Amino acid sequence: ASDHPRQRLTLLGATGSIGRSVAKVLADAPGRFQVEAVAGGRDVAALAETARALGARFAAVADPKAGPALADALAGSGIASGAGPSAVLEAAARACDLVVSAIVGVAGLAPSVAALGAGRRMALANKECLVAAGAFFMAEAARRGVELLPMDSEHNAIFQALSAAPARAVEKVTITASGGPFRLKRREEIARATPADALKHPNWSMGAKITIDSATMMNKGLELIEAHHLFALPAERLDAVVHPESVVHGLVSFVDGAVVAGLAVPDMCVPIAHCLSYPDRFVTTSRRLDLVAAGKLTFEAPDEARFPALRLARAAMAEGGAAPTRLNAANEVAVAAFLDGRLSFYGLTDLVEETLARLDGAAAPASVDDALALDAEARRLSEGLLPKFAAKAS
Ligand code: NAD
Ligand code: MG
Repeated sequence: ASDHPRQRLTLLGATGSIGRSVAKVLADAPGRFQVEAVAGGRDVAALAETARALGARFAAVADPKAGPALADALAGSGIASGAGPSAVLEAAARACDLVVSAIVGVAGLAPSVAALGAGRRMALANKECLVAAGAFFMAEAARRGVELLPMDSEHNAIFQALSAAPARAVEKVTITASGGPFRLKRREEIARATPADALKHPNWSMGAKITIDSATMMNKGLELIEAHHLFALPAERLDAVVHPESVVHGLVSFVDGAVVAGLAVPDMCVPIAHCLSYPDRFVTTSRRLDLVAAGKLTFEAPDEARFPALRLARAAMAEGGAAPTRLNAANEVAVAAFLDGRLSFYGLTDLVEETLARLDGAAAPASVDDALALDAEARRLSEGLLPKFAAKAS
């Protein structure tokens, strides 16, 4: 490892599912990284433990009341700490070589933009910031000269496949979806799904929000919008296909009929390692793909009748302007309400649809403040509509 200069890395969302996987990959690359800062939402004990384990210089917790507890938990470690949203922004803006953006939800937008401001490379797991403010975010990254590395598995596979030819030779980009836990269930069964049912993802172990998004297939909708911005491709050249084995993650079809696909076992450590080592590679302990053991790879068309979230996301992408920002906001409200037992499974997507239907068109956000104002407006409306849809939950 000594022949590689140490890179300074900041990890936003350090205590989450992605954050823990990043820590695992870092353990495969001893001596390569100095962890500059870590940030998390509320879990002080986990954040302090991560900060110590990674040897971070600074730890930030978003909960403003958690400052004394975090300082306590870090006593004697020499790790500086801060609390509240401003501390998270401070962590994001510290000079480093690579920021991993892995906060969940639109809460990751302001910290991710703050990290772009320092002009560095960013590995982006937080798809919601591209859904909520994609055009602004991509322009800001370009303006700052920041190279974005997609960490989401599908987009990471596509990013790698795209290097096979110039952008003008790309005909179509396809992301795959596992289909989630309800792929084979009838509509009536899905309608009765509880949070516990929806949290049982067949292939991936992830945070609660993205796991529910996978069950509704809103995740695939958000990912189409994510791909639209990351790869500057119009909706007509983006496709999603259900692939229950989650071995093929993304495919790029070129104008000559050639298709280059990215394959790996369903383990986020694979795309994470790619982002951390890019443009080089390093050896990791991730499980290797065994095609014979996998045996069969199958593909099917997504069913928008049973999974209306996909239709809603495509419609928001086609409408553009503020629609994707609002889609994301309403979905965050709906997912939280579903997890709390305040909405039925289809109540979740009905709430998103109704929220979007009640708002007049508006321009796409041109700043973080714009995006957060549109987000807040849609959240208020969704919260107000909750009682109407809650009646359907039982
Ligand atoms: P998670 O819920 O497991 O973790 C979220 C992290 O964000 C935690 O560290 C939490 O403390 C932190 N956080 C929440 N609110 C915060 C705030 N206001 N300020 C600072 N930190 C805050 O979520 P996850 O599954 O790790 O997903 C993180 C992001 O990565 C999401 O956008 C998700 O869509 C994306 N992603 C996740 C996976 C996966 O396998 N988990 C795969 C692809 C993309
Ligand atoms: Mg994904």
